[in-house]
Amino acid sequence: MKRNLVDGEWLPAADALENRSPADVSDLVGLYARGSSEDVDRAAAAARAALPDWAATSPQQRADILDRVGAALLARADEIGRLLAREEGKSLAEAKGETLRAAQIFRFFAGEALRVSGDALASVRPDVSVDVSREPVGVVGLITPWNFPIAIPAWKTAPALAYGNTVILKPAEQTPASAHVLAEILADAGIPKGVFNLVMGQGSVVGEAIVGHPSIDAISFTGSVPVGRRLAVEAARGLKKVQLEMGGKNPMVVLNDADLEIAVQACLSGAFFSTGQRCTASSRLIVEAGIHDAFVDRISECADALCIGNPLDPTTQIGPVVSRPQLDSNLRYVDVARDEGAEVVGGEELGGATEGFYQRPALFLNARNDMRSSREEIFGPCASVIKVGDFDEAVAVANDTEFGLSSGICTSNLKFARAFRQSSEAGMVMVNLPTAGVDYHVPFGGRKGSSYGQREQGRYAAEFYTSVKTAYEFAG
Ligand code: ADP
Repeated sequence: MKRNLVDGEWLPAADALENRSPADVSDLVGLYARGSSEDVDRAAAAARAALPDWAATSPQQRADILDRVGAALLARADEIGRLLAREEGKSLAEAKGETLRAAQIFRFFAGEALRVSGDALASVRPDVSVDVSREPVGVVGLITPWNFPIAIPAWKTAPALAYGNTVILKPAEQTPASAHVLAEILADAGIPKGVFNLVMGQGSVVGEAIVGHPSIDAISFTGSVPVGRRLAVEAARGLKKVQLEMGGKNPMVVLNDADLEIAVQACLSGAFFSTGQRCTASSRLIVEAGIHDAFVDRISECADALCIGNPLDPTTQIGPVVSRPQLDSNLRYVDVARDEGAEVVGGEELGGATEGFYQRPALFLNARNDMRSSREEIFGPCASVIKVGDFDEAVAVANDTEFGLSSGICTSNLKFARAFRQSSEAGMVMVNLPTAGVDYHVPFGGRKGSSYGQREQGRYAAEFYTSVKTAYEFAG
């Protein structure tokens, strides 16, 4: 059994969770510790005890450790990518790309550790100076989902450590292997004991224990809307700082003047790559009437040609859905869309050479924005195609959602591109690019029901992972 890392020790657990590949249920990736609330108590005590020394380390020391983690991820990207593809189901290329991204994030925050800055000002009072500096928030609990099992733990852990916090990471129960490798790499890189703790296990046990723990100062969560909302209320009870990244129902607008091939490839990639299991996936394709039929013909043809199969096969473009319950939920949404009057193309469960959770990507043609299938996040390879009369209607439909993570427009007209960037109610806006696929050195996050709290990634990560102190000094 793979163990939890608590206070520098690899702790066994009474029970284990089976980690099986969604691409081939006979492939047992491994047995992983099912942690308890006592494990969280131990990890929180260790993280609290380790905090003063870690917060006082020189930035160089923190930068060196983070840099070594980045280098190790880079050196082991093939092996980790393969493990990630087995446990999560995304294609080898995507899984390796995600591992490289995790490496880049650690390297970026190695640099940021050296660049923590503040402000020095003259006071309004004579002979008094004021300075504003950033200090660590304290012990942070990081709760992560299964869809990016190494990149999301990396983009929370790296800034947390760079800014001098100590960490308890709880990865999703479906994908503990990638997080476990990350913990091994951190331990090998010389992270002092108690500074980084890994507690694997169930959300209802380990996750809840983290959220309610009095020694944990801040929680960063990425996951589903209902869990995120409950978690925010619970965290507020303990006056914890909290940051949530949740769902999306991201619109991609295609105008009549779009380059058809750019639009189709952006929609295809945004809607179906990573099996549509991205909070930034394009799930509403909002297409102007003049290009609608040509767009539908071409995207249907391209979707049909996608190679769906075992992620370890290098020709595979789309891997399986992550689990049986997720596939069943996707299939129910396909039925919902059909019952609501959409014309469904694809969407059926597929058999394969191995027993896994394969699904053909689905397009819901002639959809309306008021259908359930256009309003609720499906989190699978399913996209509604909604026909609109003009740009203004496209913008209104794009914004008519409770979510606001990412949005996009395909157009060759600068005026429309600019107007869309200004009027979109999303945290991230793409022009002639898929709604999914972001850089790591700029903020990531949304508005409305998608996100809560400060942005993640890039220099903006400091807003969440540090606490500002204002110090006054009288010269005497
Ligand atoms: P998904 O539907 O994508 O699995 P979840 O929100 O259920 O999203 O899970 C995201 C993360 O939140 C996982 O690590 C999961 O274990 C954790 N989690 C689930 N329920 C709770 C909870 N009640 N409290 C804290 N964390 C939880």
